[in-house]
Amino acid sequence: MSGTLFVVSAASGTGKTSLVKALLDVKEGIGVSVSHTTRPMRPGEVHGVNYHFTARDDFQRMIEAGDFLEYAEVFGNLYGTSRPWVDAQLKSDRDVILEIDWQGAQQVRRLMPDAISLFILPPSLTVLEQRLRGRGTDAEEVIAHRLREAQGD
Ligand code: 5GP
Repeated sequence: MSGTLFVVSAASGTGKTSLVKALLDVKEGIGVSVSHTTRPMRPGEVHGVNYHFTARDDFQRMIEAGDFLEYAEVFGNLYGTSRPWVDAQLKSDRDVILEIDWQGAQQVRRLMPDAISLFILPPSLTVLEQRLRGRGTDAEEVIAHRLREAQGD
């Protein structure tokens, strides 16, 4: 027996995190993977809860050691999913959700064809832009970059 792996990916600002939270409220026993990232911590984020915030050198060493199920560079920062954590969860029959970008989702689909992939689209680019601005966490060029990225550029 093995748990099911769900891969949720989307343009940022599409409400992916809220959707995953809503899912966890109705279904118990799903583990959400906490990724490693080289991105600096945002205000309010907690190490080990939102991410394992990791220095680039350490992240590189983890890549070389094969510690990541998948990893990708997103907006200049590295993000990766812990392979041992996911393997242990699935082996103990627990379902797992990964909230990762499309590059990581592609890697996981290749490696684990039984994974269930969900791709979430924003209602429109205008709504996406409003949400990114509303968060108030990102600089103007980051918002512009995310909007281009959402259009597949
Ligand atoms: P943020 O820095 O805004 O939290 O996340 C930026 C992007 O990185 C989002 O699209 C998020 O889904 C993605 N991301 C977060 N963790 C991972 C991961 O472990 N692997 C990959 N490939 N993407 C991730």
